[in-house]
Amino acid sequence: MAMSKLSLNNQILLGAVTGALTGFWLAQLGQESAISQNGLYVAKLAGTLFTDLLKMVLIPLVFTSIVVGVANLRAHQQMNRVWQVTLIFFMATMALAVMLGLAAANLFQPGRELPIAMFQDAMQNFQATQMSLPEFFAHFLHSLFQNPVAALAQGNVLAVVIFALLLGIALVVGGERYRNILTLMQEFLELILMLVGWIMRLAPLGIMALVLQLVATQDTGLLAVMIKFVVVVLSTTLLHGVVVLPLILYLMTGVTPYKFWQGAREALITAMATSSSAATLPVTLRCAEQHLHVKRDVAGFVIPLGATVNMDGTALYEAVAALFVANLVGVELTVLQQMIVFVTAMLAAMGAPGIPSAGMVTMVMVLQSVGLPAEAIAVLLPIDRILDTVRTMVNVEGDLVGSLVVQHWIRRG
Ligand code: ASP
Repeated sequence: MAMSKLSLNNQILLGAVTGALTGFWLAQLGQESAISQNGLYVAKLAGTLFTDLLKMVLIPLVFTSIVVGVANLRAHQQMNRVWQVTLIFFMATMALAVMLGLAAANLFQPGRELPIAMFQDAMQNFQATQMSLPEFFAHFLHSLFQNPVAALAQGNVLAVVIFALLLGIALVVGGERYRNILTLMQEFLELILMLVGWIMRLAPLGIMALVLQLVATQDTGLLAVMIKFVVVVLSTTLLHGVVVLPLILYLMTGVTPYKFWQGAREALITAMATSSSAATLPVTLRCAEQHLHVKRDVAGFVIPLGATVNMDGTALYEAVAALFVANLVGVELTVLQQMIVFVTAMLAAMGAPGIPSAGMVTMVMVLQSVGLPAEAIAVLLPIDRILDTVRTMVNVEGDLVGSLVVQHWIRRG
């Protein structure tokens, strides 16, 4: 009963810590132990169930919140300003993240100390799907407009976002005549949010299971070998998440880091545990509206869009990883080549869907743009699970900060 006295926020934190400690214990017991095998089996079931529940509400939530958000904002003539501030914020913070990543990688040169021979086998056995910049761009554009029923069924968040945007605008242009549909959408959105509230009651257990799995199955040997790269990525990502973004938030809106953390905690911990901005989206929206008091119309637009295109953590990672690979294969990237990395890393982050290790797939394009071997992904993949936790957390943080900044700016305007 003591549990029910703790706030949900604290229960989630407790779940994450308990999961980490139990995972560590199971790792010590070794893979052969029956306790460890059974424990992992249960954790996997529970963790997947929780993520499945979040994904279940994801698409209806994205669809209704964008339609309602856009319709209401357009009705209040604020849509233009919201668009502009949102896009400027997304681009500027991602650019900052890539610059930080490039600076850190140039300063610390991770990968220089490692002999390439160590990874040759892994690279030879890895077939990377080729993706050049023009191909990537065409693919990205093509994925924007889809049959909405297919997009909804396949969970293609970006295409759902676009269709919902257009439908929202049409609802306003259509005016009074379509009042009923708008009301229907509004009520549907409220119902879905009620479901999210129920799912969140399971969050402490779900997160405990996910973190347990993460800690218990980590390949610590490989992490130790690539420690310099891991440390550079994690500390630079944290610098962006703990210093840069909170500072921007404070300077632009006056919201203190502590207040932000209090309101954003549920979403940040869920992002860390699931490594998926998309799966976290229902929680992110809830935090923005209920804890950080962002208006539903603003949050309903900025957060779903941000979950698919605004990824500071991923952008930063792609830049550091590209320089790491260059060091590993003994190539010195010129300033011009680093500028190409800058642009492609941003594009790669925007194009990556919010699912675990998505950044790894779009990474191929960054490597190829400067002539680095795409097979080097084989070196990065085994340690990605751990790096993805922090990068997803910062991706989600960027969306929440963005919604607060946008809300502040349209109030002023
Ligand atoms: N897992 C990240 C996210 O969902 C994407 C990535 O792999 O960088 O935000």
